[in-house]
Amino acid sequence: MAESFEVARSTILNNISPLKAEMVELSQLGGRVIAEEVRAPWDLPRWDNSEMDGFAVRANDCQPFARLQVDGYIPAGAVTDGISVRAGTAVRIMTGAPIPAGCDAIVPIENSESAGDSIIINRAVKIGDYIRFRGSDIAVNEVMIPAGTVLRPAEINLLASFSQLKVSVLCRPTVAILSTGDELVAPGKTAAAGQIIDSNSWSLAAAVSEIGAIPVVLGIARDNHESLSDKIALGLEADVLITSAGVSTGDRDLVREILESVGVKRLFWKVAIKPGGPTAFGLKGSKPVFSLPGNPVSSMIGFEELIRPALLKMMGHRDIFRPLIKATLRAPLCNETKKTRFLRVKVEKTSAGLVAESAGDQNTGILSTMIRANAIAILSAEQAELSAGEQVDIQLLNPL
Ligand code: AMP
Ligand code: MG
Repeated sequence: MAESFEVARSTILNNISPLKAEMVELSQLGGRVIAEEVRAPWDLPRWDNSEMDGFAVRANDCQPFARLQVDGYIPAGAVTDGISVRAGTAVRIMTGAPIPAGCDAIVPIENSESAGDSIIINRAVKIGDYIRFRGSDIAVNEVMIPAGTVLRPAEINLLASFSQLKVSVLCRPTVAILSTGDELVAPGKTAAAGQIIDSNSWSLAAAVSEIGAIPVVLGIARDNHESLSDKIALGLEADVLITSAGVSTGDRDLVREILESVGVKRLFWKVAIKPGGPTAFGLKGSKPVFSLPGNPVSSMIGFEELIRPALLKMMGHRDIFRPLIKATLRAPLCNETKKTRFLRVKVEKTSAGLVAESAGDQNTGILSTMIRANAIAILSAEQAELSAGEQVDIQLLNPL
């Protein structure tokens, strides 16, 4: 009996736990998921400082057209030791430099005119103008990055400004990828009549690295016990093993049998989806093992719908599914299968919202339809047909 898509997906996810954490350097943190919350170790900014290149003044001295004697200079990076703003004077100051004693406002250069060694103020000035006060951005001990956050450039900037050289983030799984089949040859090798070039290893490796996991391409196992056993043993050294092909009921489809013989406990081996139906999932201890069908389109969609969320969960992500959004159909879509149907579609932004249409022949053997598609439309087993103008659930594969 095939599992429904929903049961298959939750069976997988219920058996997947996030990996442990590791310390990683600032330069390698982009896209990683932080394991522990980060609190501000100090105020930001750390001291009152100037927001502009200009003059540190006393606001009370600055009636329009007041003339102030310029006395002193504080560049960025300097300290204010010994410099203060006395009545009737101004101190030249650069952006980011600390505010000197006596100063309660900054006059930007463009709001003054130079007159020898004095300036003339040409705008009204209020107390606090152009001063960034200590802690006004972030206060010491504030939780700035909660555990589970995906680190973007903004978070990394913050971590660097808190001088955190290394941060604890969830590990990325190594994902062994094994193509199986006597008919396969590696790309670059001459394919004799009847031979097929192994393309699945490479699309799966790209899909794995796209989400930040680490692909380990094992190459091709032949349809015999020895070759499969050797490669599967190697694959089980990784955090996750994905095989492709050899899981249907053909004579030489030995993958399931050998996985079982090495102690992989099977949780399901068929899912009521198209494409991707003959997908199996098992556990060797707690290690997930996925077997995808060999057909390239089926293997890519099986990965997308069943494996991708699992790998994201292992890396600590909370948003593990591509968002389901609605698009309006330009032409009808059919689901003759009584299974969950994934259709490769082209989605466009129009003035009337998102509009979707089939990207071409939906036969699972047709790779070009996958190339033209930028989204997957999902029809449930009960949705035999959707008419033009109806709404369909889609998952975008690329940003529009
Ligand atoms: P199977 O699941 O073994 O019945 O394979 C189904 C189809 O997918 C066959 O036409 C295979 O030649 C093809 N196929 C299997 N493995 C690969 C692969 N690694 N790369 C490209 N095509 C493959
Ligand atoms: Mg085969």
